[in-house]
Amino acid sequence: MPELPEVEITRLGILKRVGGRRCTGAVVRETRFRKAAPANLSELLKGQCLRSIERRGKYLIWSFDRGYIVSHLGMSGVMRVVDPKATEPVKHDHIDILFGDLAVRYHDPRRFGFLIWLPESQDPHDLPEIAKLGEEPFSDGFTADRLHSALANTSLPIKEALLTGKYVVGVGNIYCSESLFEACISPLTPANKLSTKRLERLVAAIRQVLTLSLQEGGSTLKDFVSAEGEQGYFTLNAKVYGKAGKPCSCCGRPIKKIVQNKRATYFCSHCQRRE
Ligand SMILES: [Zn+2]
Repeated sequence: MPELPEVEITRLGILKRVGGRRCTGAVVRETRFRKAAPANLSELLKGQCLRSIERRGKYLIWSFDRGYIVSHLGMSGVMRVVDPKATEPVKHDHIDILFGDLAVRYHDPRRFGFLIWLPESQDPHDLPEIAKLGEEPFSDGFTADRLHSALANTSLPIKEALLTGKYVVGVGNIYCSESLFEACISPLTPANKLSTKRLERLVAAIRQVLTLSLQEGGSTLKDFVSAEGEQGYFTLNAKVYGKAGKPCSCCGRPIKKIVQNKRATYFCSHCQRRE
């Protein structure tokens, strides 16, 4: 599943190749997604300049002259910039947005993602799914103090609380296990039992883990143009995720795997403390 770093790299890749260009049309081969894509996307977009793209959580908000595209990659989506004349669409290549000799191609086998158009009279930040998002992990608003007050009313284990996305966006299942390991916090700790001091370490750990993944993704950015099909999600150099039974990189004891709210959690019960 694409996580925040893939979405951010997608944003940067699209901007680098076609930012500032005028749209010359679109090809919509499929409209059935989590939200229906407009069949008349070509008419809507033609002649408009792609001014900027903002990322909010895992949503991308593309600003054009007279409105916005809002897109999400869902479970299996990939967006790549291709030369549409040289690259025949393959199965699940559902939408091309054309910018002269380049196209942004949206590929999504499971179609849980979406790509919609909003006229300029509608603020994309008011969409319910965007309005309810938690803080951006790299924003000034994501601090231990604020997190401490936000978590005061939840006794959910910290791992489950983070995964709700209510407190911070972009910390998916893998990044969650990794960040808690870096912060030496047990995933089972009730969220409202964490001191501001421990949350400071968590905030720093989340930023560190996401930064590493972004750097890794940045090094694959050069492949952004030619990549095809389903490849392209980053393989984080995980320390605990997927490492059940393997020695902890810190103490050598075996990494444990448990299930929390139907999601796998990996941790070291020696290094990661509840208190
Ligand atoms: Zn350990």
